[in-house]
Amino acid sequence: MNDAARSLFDLSGTVALVTGGNGGIGQGIADGLADAGASVVIAARNETKTTAAVAAIQSRGGAAVGVACDVNVRADLEAAVARCESEYGRLDILVNNAGMGRGGPAQTISEEDWAITIETNLSAMLWGSQVAYPLLKAGGRGKVINIASEYSLFGSGRALAYSASKGGVVQLTKSMAVGWAEDGIQVNAIVPGWITTDMTAPVKDSGAMYDGILHRTPAGRFGEPEELAGAGVFLASHASDFVTGIVLPVDGGYAAG
Ligand code: NDP
Repeated sequence: MNDAARSLFDLSGTVALVTGGNGGIGQGIADGLADAGASVVIAARNETKTTAAVAAIQSRGGAAVGVACDVNVRADLEAAVARCESEYGRLDILVNNAGMGRGGPAQTISEEDWAITIETNLSAMLWGSQVAYPLLKAGGRGKVINIASEYSLFGSGRALAYSASKGGVVQLTKSMAVGWAEDGIQVNAIVPGWITTDMTAPVKDSGAMYDGILHRTPAGRFGEPEELAGAGVFLASHASDFVTGIVLPVDGGYAAG
């Protein structure tokens, strides 16, 4: 690879904030961003997992710090963004990855389960982006990457709130992309397919459902968290400076089938 090609993807000198970057998909993306040269701030609740994720990046030669953050607490989001500035002096890349899901069909889902799922998966992406906006704009190369889902594209009878929240992520992404284009901030979403993480561990043990997913996925397998790194680096780098408002599946062909 020559210097011109390398500079397209080089994240040296940039700073990335990854919510939920202490495990699963968030960690896979955080590792990729660090490998490409970004300094990474990992924001999540479980401090033991965060310490381990930071150490893992440092052990491969990258720069990282962790910050305790519940994305549903605005003061925590503000503290995470402030940490980016105090530690590294800027913020260029925001990965809104933290997510969860509480099940239940339309006829029985509780108000509490609906509210926490929408808050965590959708509203917190907006509030985190809003808090990050001044630094993203000031740095002159702002990137927001929102983690969506196949359930952004397809309905789910039993993961109703999750599906509704992730559908919202797509329109939030497109609307932010349109609104912030004039600020030079690109906003895009990644649609992961079925990826091996703590979230999907019960599915992997489910027998029939697991077999059905493999059958439904053209690649015939689950993806691994590190397989999200390439899309993350692309959407964080100059290689995607004229790419905004897209929804990029990284899914072994699931959305195409
Ligand atoms: P994990 O359960 O492995 O990771 C979820 C992460 O989110 C954890 O690091 C967790 O950290 C963090 N998190 C959850 N709630 C909060 C909160 N309130 N505040 C801060 N951090 C929070 O799952 P995945 O890696 O699978 O999920 C990551 C994202 O990818 C989610 O948005 C999920 O919806 C999405 N996704 C996953 C797919 C898959 O197949 N795995 C497919 C499509 C989308 P902590 O508990 O320490 O706060």
